[in-house]
Amino acid sequence: EVYGDPEVHPQTEEYWGRVNPIGIRSCYDEGKRCAETLFFDYYRQYNLDIRVIRIFNTYGPRMHPNDGRVVSNFIVQALQGKDITIYGTGEQSRSFCYVDDLIRGINGYMNSNGDLPGPINLGNPNEFTMKELAEKVISLTNTKSKIIYKPLPQDDPQQRQPNIDKAKELLNWEPVIHIVTGK
Ligand code: UDP
Repeated sequence: EVYGDPEVHPQTEEYWGRVNPIGIRSCYDEGKRCAETLFFDYYRQYNLDIRVIRIFNTYGPRMHPNDGRVVSNFIVQALQGKDITIYGTGEQSRSFCYVDDLIRGINGYMNSNGDLPGPINLGNPNEFTMKELAEKVISLTNTKSKIIYKPLPQDDPQQRQPNIDKAKELLNWEPVIHIVTGK
């Protein structure tokens, strides 16, 4: 979220992001940016041992059916035979990480020794459009649900993909669970 609607693609940790400070997503985006600022101030001022992770889109079991995020929305809609709601054209893209991969990365980073404040991107670089995601869900569930199109929320990022070179190099971490296998 700190990267907002990014002009740099994929996003590296060096990129400062492009966030609207007053839009409907701002409390979420800027809240994360403010948290990073405070952590780094404590790191500099009090030598606090910090680890800053930039978490990209994640999915997995026990998401609430009304969570509202796209993977759970599409799966719940498909299983209930309801219309699958694509916001905007569906050409916007995301990269989804299975929760077990993410937790393994978080644990590895939290348990790593040394001065490693980050930030470090954790996410799955496998990127596709929301239209492709809807089609995957339809074919995997064999649903009769049809795709419908709804308005795109304000400031919805057009694309998002983590560059995970740092996590690979410093933590020896990368995701192994593909979206189609994702349990
Ligand atoms: N989205 C969609 N249909 C839905 C829910 C979300 O097309 O029922 C889109 C949303 O507009 C965004 C993408 O899917 O482009 C990912 O949305 P989500 O809320 O899961 O995460 P975000 O990346 O926006 O934080």
